Amino acid sequence: MFTAKRVADKKDWLSGRDHDWEIIIGLEVHAQVASKSKLFSGAATEYGAEPNTQVSLVDAAMPGMLPVVNEFCIEQAVRTGLGLNAQINLYSRFDRKNYFYPDLPQGYQISQFEFPIVGEGEIEIEPEGGEAVIVGIERLHLEQDAGKSIHDLSPDDTFVDLNRSGVCLMEIVSKPDMRSPEEASAYVEKVRGIVRALGTCDGDMEKGNLRADVNVSVRKPGGDLGTRCEIKNVNSMRFIRQAINYEARRQIDILEAGGEIDQETRLFDNAKGETRTMRSKEDAHDYRYFPDPDLLPINITQEFVDGIKANLPELPDARKARFVVDYGIPEYDARILTADKAKGDFYERLAKGRDAKIAANWMMGDLFGALNKASINLDDSPVNSDALGELLDLIGDKTISGKIAKDVFEKMFAGEGGANEIVEREGLKQVTDTGAIEKMVQDVIDANADQAAKVADNPRLVGFFVGQVMKASGGKANPQAVNEILRKKLGL
Ligand code: MN
Repeated sequence: MFTAKRVADKKDWLSGRDHDWEIIIGLEVHAQVASKSKLFSGAATEYGAEPNTQVSLVDAAMPGMLPVVNEFCIEQAVRTGLGLNAQINLYSRFDRKNYFYPDLPQGYQISQFEFPIVGEGEIEIEPEGGEAVIVGIERLHLEQDAGKSIHDLSPDDTFVDLNRSGVCLMEIVSKPDMRSPEEASAYVEKVRGIVRALGTCDGDMEKGNLRADVNVSVRKPGGDLGTRCEIKNVNSMRFIRQAINYEARRQIDILEAGGEIDQETRLFDNAKGETRTMRSKEDAHDYRYFPDPDLLPINITQEFVDGIKANLPELPDARKARFVVDYGIPEYDARILTADKAKGDFYERLAKGRDAKIAANWMMGDLFGALNKASINLDDSPVNSDALGELLDLIGDKTISGKIAKDVFEKMFAGEGGANEIVEREGLKQVTDTGAIEKMVQDVIDANADQAAKVADNPRLVGFFVGQVMKASGGKANPQAVNEILRKKLGL
C-alpha cells in the first residue's frame, strides 16, 4: 500500500497557524472506454441519445438475462495498461459489488475487485512550474457505469435514464503520490493524454467520459498519514485543483482547532468552490463482493498482450522526445504540444516544411491564447493548420512582418477570411521597395533634425527612428530595409 517515500517541496506546503502541512493526494480516474457497445451487452453507447433508447434487457437488469463480455473492451483495458507501463494480468475476474441505487437496477455493479486486469505501473508527470514526478499506478480494473437519476425535470418526481447503464469504464487507481493540486491536475492531464493517444477513451471531461475521485489528506511534513476524504466525480482540471485546495484547508482548520477528520465521501460544488459531505464512512459499505457467477474468469494469453504491445501508437512521452530531436524545439514547447494528440497532430501538420520554432510559438501564443479566450477546443478552431500555415508562409517569404501577421491572425480567427485574402484586401503587403522606404526615412530625419544630430553620440536613438519610420509606413515597411537605410543616412 502506501509508502511515504516523498516529502513535498516546501513551496507546496500549506502554512497553518502553528506549523506547515503537507497535502497527500491519490486519484481514482474513471475513463469511459471508447467502444460502440456496452461492456456486457450490444446496446449502443452514443452520447446524447434520447433517454432510455440505448438499453438492452441486460442493462435494464431483467430477470434471467445473461451478461456477455465485450472483447473489444478487454483489449482497450490491456492497451491502456501498457500505456501506463503497468503489469497486465493474464488472469482476471469480474465480481459483484452489491449496493442499492435507484439508477442501478441490478442491485449490484459488475466490477473487478480481487483480480483486476491491470496491476501496478507508473507514469511521469510534469506539473506546471515544478519538477517531473513519478506517480505510481495501483491498478486498473473494468466495471459497468450506472444509469443517471434526473431530479430537475419535475418538482415531485425523479426520472431515470439507463442509457449509461452498463457502459464500460476503466477505473485507474493511482498511489497517493501527489503532493499539490498542480501535481494532481498534471496527473489527470497525463492520463488523459495517454488514453487519447491510445484511442481507448476520448477523454472528454465535459461529457463525463473522464472524471476523477480525489482522495485528500494532510499531515505534518514527513509525519504520519492523516485521515482522508474522498471527493467524488470532479470533472475538470480547474475543479480538481480548487477542490483539493478547499479540502486541504478545511482539514487543516479542523486539525488546528483540535478536532478530528471524519473519513467520508464528499461532493465538490463547482458554483461555490467548496466540498460538502455526501455520505460518511460511519455506515462503511460492506459491498459483499463475490465472483459473478454469470461470467467466466478472463484468461488472456501472453501472445494476445504482445500483439497489442507491438501495435501501440506513439505515446506522449515518446512523441515529446521526438519533437525535441526532429523539430529542434525546447522541451517545454514539446511538452505542451504533445499534451494531447490533437495538439501534436496540428503541430506536425503546421511545422512540416516551415520554421519549427516559429510554428511552435504561433500555436502556443496566438492560437492557444485566442482559443482559450473564446473557450473553443483546438478541434473546433476557426483557424486550422492549413490556414495558419498560409499565414506563416507570408511571414516566411517576407510578404508581411510578424507584427502585421498578428493583426491578420485576429481577423482570420474572427472569420474574416484567409491570410492571403486579408493581406490582399487590406493592402498589408510589406513595403520592400527601397525607393519608397528611402523617402519615408528622409522625411522622418528631416522632421527630427535635433535627434538626428545626436545619434552619433547616442546610437540607441536609432530605435526611435526605426519606430517613427515603421509608424509612418503603417507597419508595412520591411524592418530590415528600414534599419539599413537609416544607418546609412545617419552616417552610422
Ligand atoms: Mn468505480
